[in-house]
Amino acid sequence: WELETYAWSQETRRILTEIFKLEDFRPMQRSVINVVMSKEDCLVIMSTGSGKSLCYQLPAVLSKGITLVVSPLISLIEDQLIQLKKLGIEAATLNQSTAKDEVTRIQNALTNPNSNLRLLYVTPEKLAKSKRIMNKLEKSTELKLLKLIAIDEVHCCSQWGHDFRPDYQFLNILKRQFKGVPILGLTATATANVLDDVKSILGIQGAITLRAGFNRSNLYYEVREKPPTNEAMLEDLTSLINDRFRDQSGIIYCFSRKECEDLTRDLRNRGVKAAFYHAYLESDQRTKVHEKWLFGKVNVIVATVAFGMGIDKPDVRYVIHHSIAKSMENYYQESGRAGRDGKPAFCILYYKIGDVFRQSTMVCSEKTGTANLYSMLSYTIRVNDCRRVCIAEHFDETWDSSWCNKMCDVCEKSQKFEFSEVDISEFFAEIKKIIIQQRTETDQGRITGGKLVELIGKKFKNTSRVYLEQVVANLILQGFLQEDFHFTPYSIISYIVLGARGKNTSGTEKCTMKVQKVKIGSS
Ligand code: ADP
Repeated sequence: WELETYAWSQETRRILTEIFKLEDFRPMQRSVINVVMSKEDCLVIMSTGSGKSLCYQLPAVLSKGITLVVSPLISLIEDQLIQLKKLGIEAATLNQSTAKDEVTRIQNALTNPNSNLRLLYVTPEKLAKSKRIMNKLEKSTELKLLKLIAIDEVHCCSQWGHDFRPDYQFLNILKRQFKGVPILGLTATATANVLDDVKSILGIQGAITLRAGFNRSNLYYEVREKPPTNEAMLEDLTSLINDRFRDQSGIIYCFSRKECEDLTRDLRNRGVKAAFYHAYLESDQRTKVHEKWLFGKVNVIVATVAFGMGIDKPDVRYVIHHSIAKSMENYYQESGRAGRDGKPAFCILYYKIGDVFRQSTMVCSEKTGTANLYSMLSYTIRVNDCRRVCIAEHFDETWDSSWCNKMCDVCEKSQKFEFSEVDISEFFAEIKKIIIQQRTETDQGRITGGKLVELIGKKFKNTSRVYLEQVVANLILQGFLQEDFHFTPYSIISYIVLGARGKNTSGTEKCTMKVQKVKIGSS
């Protein structure tokens, strides 16, 4: 698809330079344009900031007629309209606040072959609610004026993704209603599962899938052991922000609204220019915080995952996760907001097992919530694998750790450490005893992860808590232990019980885990 010998290739290049004022295509853009111009359905996975919009904006200009763009957020749509206006490309949006005569003008343009309107942006909600637009678009299709339907953030269709939006399910009718019009779905992250789901929801099983590599070579990935006390954690963060990242822009992702607010207060008390951002802020407040950050009045945004879509600040030098992300996809997307300008940037994740149990109660009612969280857990505790190898595995890509260029903590330390596999059956035997004993004592056998680690600590006095947490995490990922969720009217509690492999009564199965040791002779 990369060829430049299509009937439209010359004109494509002319539009790129003369109208979009760009020198050359970025990876994958030309292929996507060739696919949609060939009237094939297409799914494209490109990281944020890599230039997805051009993939439908250029064909919109090239093919004349109308391109319908479905986009999740009005603010994103408005940004694009401003850009297009500057380039002299006619585009419009329909939403609740569109004036009546503008609505009429747009509706007429949809069926007028001489109109200059090229792109019509709508949110999925708007499309689902407005029969009139759907009728007009149908007319437009009959007149062969509707050329392309582009769906931004297309992973929102799938409940398996990290951002499911019910309104996106309505989009399943597009393929049937607008026959012959190619569909282009765009997203920054999607696993093979999510992509298959999206294809079947949209009815585009034959879509050509194009994926720009997941790798962001300028990002340094690191996992840090989370300090045991709040005070120690603050010290760690303050020294990072005030010393290493002095005057640079960053984001700290927190678990909850309360954590955001508390951490912001504590950081400010230590002289850090921080502000918080979460879903409970009024929308004008959010805009204010965002702007302060964009213009450098605030260095650090302390945010929940609500701070995300539509954030496009190129010089974010670090993204810190105060606690574990809820899935690998979330982590990739959230940490990926660092270093959009291509210069070095840091993605640091603080890990302790307690955060996993906290997060698991939040995600356990989602379809694949716990499995997604455990893939994130696996990323954090795999001591001997390049972080990029873990990410690549998740996105079904191949990756060799030698390509990492020591841009992750594991590769950087690999010369100093060696790895070995140790037998942890002895620990598991004790844990099993504790769980069974608990059952006879409380007659329910319910023990939380935190309590469990505390009790094993009493048996293995010379073993550090961090090591014991590592043992428990490994036993969970290997199925010897599992979380069992208990729903009360006020909250969900995670208890640890024996997993399928752990119930095996013969007791002969060996459990192991990988550990790192300082190499002899290394300083
Ligand atoms: P995405 O939707 O993938 O996050 P955008 O479409 O918003 O990314 O593009 C990000 C930035 O990259 C924009 O400023 C855009 O103008 C720029 N861009 C896109 N394509 C090119 C290109 N071929 N050459 C140079 N800059 C480009």
